[in-house]
Amino acid sequence: MRPVFINVGERTNVTGSAKFRKLIVDGDYTAALSVARQQVEAGAQVIDVNMDEGLLDGPVAMRTFLNLIAAEPDIARVPVMIDSSKWEVIEAGLKCVQGKPIVNSISMKEGEDAFRHHAIQCLRYGAAVVVMAFDEVGQADTAARKIEICTRAYNILVNEVGFPPEDIIFDPNIFAVATGIEEHDNYAVDFIEAVRVIKQTLPHARVSGGVSNVSFSFRGNEPVRRAIHSVFLYHAINAGLDMGIVNAGDLPVYDDIDAELREAVEDVILNRPQRTNVSNTERLVDMAPRYKGEKGAAKVVDLKWRDAPVAKRIEHALVHGITDYIVEDTEEARQASERPLHVIEGPLMDGMNVVGDLFGSGRMFLPQVVKSARVMKQAVAHLEPFMEAEKAGQERQAAGKILMATVKGDVHDIGKNIVGVVLQCNNYEVVDLGVMVPADRILDAAIEHKVDIVGLSGLITPSLDEMTFVAAEMERRGFDIPLLIGGATTSRTHTAVKIEPAYRKGSTTYVIDASRAVGVVSGLLSPTDKAKNEAATRDEYIRIREQYARGQEVKARASLQQARDNRWRPDEAQLPAPAPSFLGVRAYEAWDLQDLADHIDWTPFFASWELIGRYPLILEDEIVGEAARDLFRDAQAMLKRIVEEKWFTAKGVIGFWPANARGDDVIVWTDETRATEAARFHGLRQQIKKSNGKPNLCLSDFVAEDGADYLGAFAVTAGHGELEKAAEFKAAGDDYSAIMATALADRLAEAFAERLHKEVRTQLWGYVPDEQTSVQDLIEEKYQGIRPAPGYPAQPDHTEKATLFRLLDAGANAGMELTESFAMSPPASVSGLYFGHPGSHYFGVGKIDRDQVEDYAARKGWDVETAERWLAPILNYDPDAVARNDAA
Ligand code: SAH
Repeated sequence: MRPVFINVGERTNVTGSAKFRKLIVDGDYTAALSVARQQVEAGAQVIDVNMDEGLLDGPVAMRTFLNLIAAEPDIARVPVMIDSSKWEVIEAGLKCVQGKPIVNSISMKEGEDAFRHHAIQCLRYGAAVVVMAFDEVGQADTAARKIEICTRAYNILVNEVGFPPEDIIFDPNIFAVATGIEEHDNYAVDFIEAVRVIKQTLPHARVSGGVSNVSFSFRGNEPVRRAIHSVFLYHAINAGLDMGIVNAGDLPVYDDIDAELREAVEDVILNRPQRTNVSNTERLVDMAPRYKGEKGAAKVVDLKWRDAPVAKRIEHALVHGITDYIVEDTEEARQASERPLHVIEGPLMDGMNVVGDLFGSGRMFLPQVVKSARVMKQAVAHLEPFMEAEKAGQERQAAGKILMATVKGDVHDIGKNIVGVVLQCNNYEVVDLGVMVPADRILDAAIEHKVDIVGLSGLITPSLDEMTFVAAEMERRGFDIPLLIGGATTSRTHTAVKIEPAYRKGSTTYVIDASRAVGVVSGLLSPTDKAKNEAATRDEYIRIREQYARGQEVKARASLQQARDNRWRPDEAQLPAPAPSFLGVRAYEAWDLQDLADHIDWTPFFASWELIGRYPLILEDEIVGEAARDLFRDAQAMLKRIVEEKWFTAKGVIGFWPANARGDDVIVWTDETRATEAARFHGLRQQIKKSNGKPNLCLSDFVAEDGADYLGAFAVTAGHGELEKAAEFKAAGDDYSAIMATALADRLAEAFAERLHKEVRTQLWGYVPDEQTSVQDLIEEKYQGIRPAPGYPAQPDHTEKATLFRLLDAGANAGMELTESFAMSPPASVSGLYFGHPGSHYFGVGKIDRDQVEDYAARKGWDVETAERWLAPILNYDPDAVARNDAA
């Protein structure tokens, strides 16, 4: 299974970064925030924040900084590790951190009682904890001491305190090697060994470490330090290291390190017997100056691989995704084989196994694997006629059969298609039923094809409910095969809390992204490990449900009335936007695709291929840069054809109406007499208890209750032609291009929304006629006004799209439809409302209470159960539990 490593950003630490310390001591929090942002952009999945500095008031600095982070969505999306050796600082942090906090750290250095006490506090805050391997005697240095202390801590936490084991992160101390002191030579080995044993013996606990310590003796020689980190991590991750505090954007790929340097580093890290007449440390110290100021060996592009034997050539073509020679190589291999099938079972599968291993160990990335699949398919397509002709026993033995479907009401399938391709690469047979597939059809097909696993995918929140329904149907119809859940809207918590309990006869597993799919599937189909893996997941989900139940109790909400009393009010000085240049709707039949191409925001494009990082920095990223550059080149080439050959048609429609707020709703009037309602948009209001004078927001707050104010709406698509194009590529065995075409259609639709919004601000509504914004400004949404989309945090109710589509007549004007779950079709579509008020801004409604659900239901003309179904993801209570209580 692929080791899943989490990077913890280390630069927001006053003890570790002189630059950050200076900013904080000088009180320049704005610049300090940008340090946090850079970390996240560089790929940090958690940021470590440390304010332990003599000159600082630790609790105040911690609080100030965390509050600032909370207001920055692009930083706040990653969890914070509250790092301090002082408990009061940690507590200050816990009180204001958003999302799940991680405390770094607690230990038994002051004995078991203090340890227990701190652990209980952390538990109360729902925090995960880093536990240092530190006891009354001191810091653990040998593997045996590390293991002994961690085991003792684990037993106290799990058995006495009742701490969820998956929230325990051990830090068994990374110490510097190559210091010249012989006792230090085994430190890295001790750490790696401790990791291995902890992962084997302390279930669900995770292991972390501060990586830069290990190379401390090479201060000042960054290239060598980076090589040491990379080699150390390579071995520690293989031993089971889950996370590490590292400078994420700054690690060379293990395989790219100069071979001589890597060997010397590896000798030091693994404390191997010395190869020369000097010690490993001395050898590395001697060698180090040569690498100073060098980033890694340049790559040479050549065709030398064409000289290798045919099996090696096929492997090379698969690993590098090169189709140019695959037919001739496959043919050569076929002529040399007894049967065509042997070419598949031999060199092709061998090559795919290499791909699988490289991907599994983090040395290849998704786009590259999907390209490998294309090479494989072309080779198999070449062999097929020969196998037909041979007719006897050409059935290839697959490793297992997996059914995949996007559930009823949902139309998105990029993620599902990527998973399908990756599974096929690993010799699984995939039965793909496509999108919008009702439960019956999924389960009938599962029986008909005798599949081993059912995989469900979904992107919008109503699909969560549908997945639960499919799970219940599996139970009712007596299935017992594993069920997999994936897709943007799904989560481990939802799977554990809602889906898994509906299906007890078989197991349910959440798959976080395509890169995990193979590991999960092989674990579920392994005759020896299936039961063990399923039991582990079951246990994990029980714990998640318990944790979820605990989390449910603490969130006190304001009543709907209190929230309304605390609504947002515009500044006297800020007037609503003036009347638009026209009222009613206006349709666009075919927006210029080149103009849209010029406005693409590329960062989400890379994310759809599971390459995480901000464009254009991602192209230079040490780890994924090469994969990102290749992907980008292919994308540009296809985009050029999309524009020149008009693969897609970009249609859209916008409209403006006189509008006024009525409570939490916005009424759209047919005309300026403001007498007849054309439509009514319903709003949801934040019910979180606010302190420090912040309002409880609702979108209607941005529209005036009386007088002249206006609302706009839009629906755009770049998806006319997208399904046809993707199907064409698929039929030709080119899933890579099929997925690429879909991903680019999505990008063009988003660009269309952005482009048209600018037109709206400067001309059509015209409230900022002289706006000067670059493409980058647009991507960062640095402009007046917002375009919230139903189903997004400011109005999570997808059904509001029905009103929007009716008002715009999006069907006739842009050829756009809604499914029964209110997904838009074609898939590459965007829609929303336009608010022009200078004070309007995005926010999240957050969880709401039953009083608002009832009120909302009345406004929508629904019964409460219907409201609970559509609002399920934001309920601050569990309707099933409430119903059970009511019945009792
Ligand atoms: N440039 C990006 C678009 C990012 S999504 C891309 O190309 O993919 C940004 C859009 O999401 C906003 O314009 C808005 O329509 C929606 N959005 C973001 N946050 C929102 C919120 N809190 N409430 C409602 N809509 C939101």
